[in-house]
Amino acid sequence: MRWNPWKRRGDGASGTMPDVLEAGEPRADAPDVPVQIEEPEAPTSRFSRLRHRIQATLAMDVTELFQRGTVDAEAWDRLEETLLGADVGAVATEQILAGMRARLKADSALDPVAALRAELLQILDPDADRSLALAGAMAPMVVVGVNGVGKTTTVGKLARVLVAEDRRVLLAAADTFRAAAADQLEAWGARVGVPVVRADREGGDPAAVAFEAMRRGVDEGADVVLIDTAGRLQNKQGLMDELGKVVRVASKVAPPREVLLVLDATTGQNGLIQARVFAEAVGLTGIVLTKLDGSARGGIVLAVQRELGVPVKYVGLGEGVDDLAPFDPEGFVDGLLGV
Ligand code: GDP
Repeated sequence: MRWNPWKRRGDGASGTMPDVLEAGEPRADAPDVPVQIEEPEAPTSRFSRLRHRIQATLAMDVTELFQRGTVDAEAWDRLEETLLGADVGAVATEQILAGMRARLKADSALDPVAALRAELLQILDPDADRSLALAGAMAPMVVVGVNGVGKTTTVGKLARVLVAEDRRVLLAAADTFRAAAADQLEAWGARVGVPVVRADREGGDPAAVAFEAMRRGVDEGADVVLIDTAGRLQNKQGLMDELGKVVRVASKVAPPREVLLVLDATTGQNGLIQARVFAEAVGLTGIVLTKLDGSARGGIVLAVQRELGVPVKYVGLGEGVDDLAPFDPEGFVDGLLGV
């Protein structure tokens, strides 16, 4: 009998308990217990729901700039300080201020806030393609990042986004060094209603798990295989070699369409240093920025995108299962400005 653990949306509110695979055959003894699989929120409506969680870090300066009409030296200094304090980074801050000056010089009637908004948006490249590469046959995606940034949570939330779009998803727990990480992913799999491939023992080969998941993905007709990876930075070279191998071995079945780096917005400029290391080791196609809720350092989005030239595709704005939203540059800039 063909193994078909996926439930399409609209098949009814409850599904069948998904199999948890031991990197081998599906368990014949899996209990056929109906579990409640929650209906995920449509991804398109999420950013507007969550936007208020972005701290309006630049709002005070904006009010000030508004009131004065013209921007005096003190206001420029203050804006610079605020941008740096929001982790926009020195280079991007300089670029923004210079750009604003040029805009205001060219058009003295221009509202300073409009000039700031335009500069912020320009750095974020609003026309960049932020969609996940999903067209065609099975799309493998590798998710990388340092421990604690919210990687496993993001894989679970992303699975929900994809399920909400009616895609068949398979998860791979390629962090084989922490059993807890695979357990956590399994819990997400059960919640979202998608199967999880994990190693049969702790310390197993992560690349073998990725390969097994890819093979199963092809066999079972998955639309997306999401590969969660390890993130111990203590042994940087070892980790990077391991990630390189995961990508190489998975590529034997099909090359990853996306390599997504998860960064924690609250770590500020540290995130940039991590990003450089990962970008060099595996090549990135997109960034997911987590914990943007409650961080006064939302400007890191600008710094990261400017530095890496890789678009921020999704943002995490809370711990809830549907608190991962496709990134909307305009909504984000308005959130920062408090407008
Ligand atoms: P990993 O070690 O990178 O896999 O990190 P985890 O996925 O285990 O997440 C670490 C912690 O960050 C957990 O407590 C998550 O609930 C929390 N977390 C993840 N994403 C977000 C987010 O967008 N906002 C907030 N507030 N917490 C988050």
